[in-house]
Amino acid sequence: MLFDYHVHTAFSDDSSYPMSDCILDAIDLGIDEICFTDHVDYGIKLDWDQSKKFKRVNGQLMANVDYPLYFQTISHYQRLFKGQITLKKGLEFGVQTHTIPLYQALFDEYENQLDFVILSIHQVDDLEFWTQDYQKGKSQKEYIEGYYRQMYDVVRSFHDYNVLGHMDMINRYDLIGNYPFELVKPYIAEILKVVIADEKGIELNTSSHRYGLNDSTPCKAIMELYRDLGGKIITIGSDAHSKQHLGAYINEGKAYLKSLGFEWQCAFYQMNPSYYPIG
Ligand SMILES: [Zn+2]
Ligand SMILES: [Zn+2]
Repeated sequence: MLFDYHVHTAFSDDSSYPMSDCILDAIDLGIDEICFTDHVDYGIKLDWDQSKKFKRVNGQLMANVDYPLYFQTISHYQRLFKGQITLKKGLEFGVQTHTIPLYQALFDEYENQLDFVILSIHQVDDLEFWTQDYQKGKSQKEYIEGYYRQMYDVVRSFHDYNVLGHMDMINRYDLIGNYPFELVKPYIAEILKVVIADEKGIELNTSSHRYGLNDSTPCKAIMELYRDLGGKIITIGSDAHSKQHLGAYINEGKAYLKSLGFEWQCAFYQMNPSYYPIG
């Protein structure tokens, strides 16, 4: 089975990929199931119904998903493409400790609509990594440890998610280069123990290929640690924001997981996992 469990469309403010095009492309690619996971980033973005207060960055509106329209549209396409492809309703929550109450309220409002939630750490203290605003003025040790401390604090108090997204994404934006894994291993092990005890999982994010990283996302050492700690729940996602990345390297991802000794990939329905053998 070919699943892509991390897909962005024009409902995310950083994508202009129409959902209908995405579905047709996925069918062309022979993908069995896609889960839409458009962005919610409280702290730096407002909800669609607060449009008067929208922030503009380089002329672009910064807004979260228009939830009612989003879920309605996916329902419509589920009916339209029935028998051709399975479509799931997900969101990617960019959670920070101070925004947890907002995500809690959002989840409570749309719980009956959601199949799947990715929990990602996209910002700390409302500072972005990709712009270097978060790293600025900190040593490498400070910003790496601060990132994982934030993740640990979030997973201990927020439980309405299924997998941790691109767990070591901070490495992608680390201008200094690889921070020794042994130094962050204790933090990562504690996070993974909480995640496993909470019956959550992690994702293999195949965007590492297009970013030209020399390791997987998360890195092989994290994947092995997760396996050794008894982690079972894994989804595979391309993190596509456009046609060229949809479904990319998913088959390679399956082979990679198999080589690490993982036997199952997960799909989700109403926040519950189903396990499919990685064939
Ligand atoms: Zn993300
Ligand atoms: Zn994403």
